[in-house]
Amino acid sequence: MENLTDLTTIRTLCEKYGFTLAKGFGQNFIVNAGICPKICEAAGIDKTTNVLEIGPGFGTLTQQLALRAKKVVAIEVDTRLLPVLEETLAEHDNVTIVNQDVLQCDLAALITQEFGGGPVTVCANLPYYITSPILMKLLEDRLPITSITAMVQKEAADRICAAPGTRASGAISYATHYYAAPAIRFTVQPGSFYPPPKVTSAVIQLTLHAMPPLAAHPVREKRLFALVRASFSQRRKTLINAASAGLAMPKQALQAALQTTGLAPLARPEQLTLEQYIALEQALWPEE
Ligand code: SAM
Repeated sequence: MENLTDLTTIRTLCEKYGFTLAKGFGQNFIVNAGICPKICEAAGIDKTTNVLEIGPGFGTLTQQLALRAKKVVAIEVDTRLLPVLEETLAEHDNVTIVNQDVLQCDLAALITQEFGGGPVTVCANLPYYITSPILMKLLEDRLPITSITAMVQKEAADRICAAPGTRASGAISYATHYYAAPAIRFTVQPGSFYPPPKVTSAVIQLTLHAMPPLAAHPVREKRLFALVRASFSQRRKTLINAASAGLAMPKQALQAALQTTGLAPLARPEQLTLEQYIALEQALWPEE
């Protein structure tokens, strides 16, 4: 098996396939041999696990996943990497590479086709420029995913894992806590990647809830997140001002709903817990 954490191997592969790293695809490859086994361990991968990987790159994490998992399906957008992956993963017969943009991919159909419908564990060193859209797609699409273990920018990790209702929380913290139990597993320094990114990274783990609170009420769920997004659209404003602008709703309606819910009229968006947003949604649209 080629040692893909060795810089000489990486340079040789780049030369052989005329490959140059594309900044636009967030290509920072792991070159610290300790990291991929640690990600596999954090994800609890064993021979019964079906793994969906996003962005295999040269196949560094993919190799370690293939050694431990039942089957790995890896989605890679950069067509130039296909011949490289064919070489680096040649000795693993439990890996399938799908050449697609993960944001355009019908993941439900792919999981049905490749894993007979799941359950699936997601593992990835994510392209940082689309961390939130990828996570939101994985969470919102009602896929048979049990957990997501992913390398992200440390700053994003802090936001994703911040408890709703605390100063560090943002709109995404509410979504991740609604759908899952998120946690930071470990941090990774820039020198563990080639080329090194400008920022520190962290591996997060999202253990998905079997039944998110409003799973049986899709209309309410949609409105809840419209309310959260609107409230955070102007973070420095009070929740009433931001949500009234974002939802095109009279301030009086929001004032009345805050009062019904027992919340302070000058509350800021990040001061409400997830449960309080759920109660506020109910107070705003009580008829449904
Ligand atoms: N897994 C490799 C590693 O850890 O060394 C590479 C990780 S690199 C941070 C991100 C990978 O995601 C790159 O291979 C990049 O080409 C791929 N990628 C970027 N945008 C993508 C997209 N929209 N869909 C699928 N893969 C994407």
